[in-house]
Amino acid sequence: MFDELTIILLIFALLLSWFAVWKKYLTVSGAVLANIIGLIILFFNGTSFFLIIIIAFFIANVATRYKIKEKIEIKFVTRKKAIRSWQNVLANGLPILIFSILEGTMHASLFTIGYVTANASFLCDTVSTEIGITSKEEPFLITNFKKTLKGRSGAITTLGTLAGTLSATLLAIISYLIIQEQLNRIILLVIIVATSSTLANLIDSLLGATIQAIYYCKYCATFSEEEKHTCGNLCEKVSGFKYINNHVVNFLANLTGALISVVIYTTFV
Ligand SMILES: [Zn+2]
Repeated sequence: MFDELTIILLIFALLLSWFAVWKKYLTVSGAVLANIIGLIILFFNGTSFFLIIIIAFFIANVATRYKIKEKIEIKFVTRKKAIRSWQNVLANGLPILIFSILEGTMHASLFTIGYVTANASFLCDTVSTEIGITSKEEPFLITNFKKTLKGRSGAITTLGTLAGTLSATLLAIISYLIIQEQLNRIILLVIIVATSSTLANLIDSLLGATIQAIYYCKYCATFSEEEKHTCGNLCEKVSGFKYINNHVVNFLANLTGALISVVIYTTFV
């Protein structure tokens, strides 16, 4: 039923997701959902698309692991609880799944670029957050360019943004090599994916600074994306709407990024 490559990829995906659980990057339910999403992609699109999401997930984990001790020290993450939940996997996975199913049923290259960009947008956001938080530079708020505290939604750093765009570009190159796209088309496609993912990342920060619920922990004197801070104390909401959390913003931003790439592709390519 399965060829050798499929079996190797399935085993690798399983090991990778359970390594993430062991390292507390992902909850058990998050890993189960990630595996289900992977299987759906394998079913609809085969090994090449499956390999793309595995690589995106792998690079995201490397970025999460980067300077993890420092992130624990500043209470950006905690050792007590896994960093990403099933809600996080769903928010990032849904835009990817939408384009996976569209491509799998209609086989059009505009859905392929949507799929690659949905993956690249997820990676761009994760890498810019995970690298940006370790930056020595003070972050600034995307809406007014004023300096703000680390970890606040909508706060961006030059290092984080550049790292995010670089990771999206890298994933786009790898993806089109895996898909075996014609070499003379790859540069243009990579530019579209990298630009759309960077826009998705900026939209994510913009929504994060405006409509997303932001909390403040008075015990740690820092901002939090959740009502319960990593220190265990309850925070006070300082701005945004209660039901628009980081997951909703991630979903909206990544879906928009993928749609932007589809529009650019159908207009210019
Ligand atoms: Zn706290």
